[in-house]
Amino acid sequence: MPNKKKSANNNCTGFNGFVTRENREKLHNHKGAVVWFTGLSASGKSTIAHHLEKRLFEKGCSTYVFDGDNVRHGLCSDLGFSEANRTENIRRIGEMARLFIDAGIIVITAFISPYQKDREQIRSLVSDNQFLEIYVKCPIDICENRDQKGIYAKAKSGIIKEFTGISAPYEPPGNPNIVIRSDELSPVDAAKQVMSLMEQKEII
Ligand code: ADP
Repeated sequence: MPNKKKSANNNCTGFNGFVTRENREKLHNHKGAVVWFTGLSASGKSTIAHHLEKRLFEKGCSTYVFDGDNVRHGLCSDLGFSEANRTENIRRIGEMARLFIDAGIIVITAFISPYQKDREQIRSLVSDNQFLEIYVKCPIDICENRDQKGIYAKAKSGIIKEFTGISAPYEPPGNPNIVIRSDELSPVDAAKQVMSLMEQKEII
């Protein structure tokens, strides 16, 4: 029989199902985990995330990419870019990632996520081997050159406010699992590097 469990905060009663994360991981033939890309806008997070997903998918892994397109326009469409809103954005993504991990899926996220404390909060939600922090490091002038939407120009002229790297801070990770120099490494090689780490950690 499955057990019912009480939430500590309120009277909601949770339900421990018949199927566990371990059962689901066995079905998928890999562990559930989150690969968390962080870095400046246009540093290459989404590009590398999708290359990684393609390689994992070809290997038979169950994957999903969260990025601005599928999160900022839906679940987080009520949030802007103030510090409090960015924190709430990352909190929601972290909670979603936790559920996906429980579902035995490999979640890949591509968000600037500029604040160290917000990323640490995500790390604290899951176990150590389930969270890989990947810092996509790229000089801001190269990001600016890559930017096809002209958002750096708009930020510099003040049309876009609170823009990371221009008018809002970016706190680089103190101890990331990998630093990818996207000005030196191709997206394919970057994805390979992350795959190797996932193999080492026995996620895949
Ligand atoms: P972000 O998700 O960090 O905002 P994107 O992946 O959307 O960045 O955009 C980065 C741009 O830089 C893309 O147009 C991509 O093709 C280009 N690019 C050039 N070289 C690289 C590289 N080595 N790694 C990742 N992206 C690169």
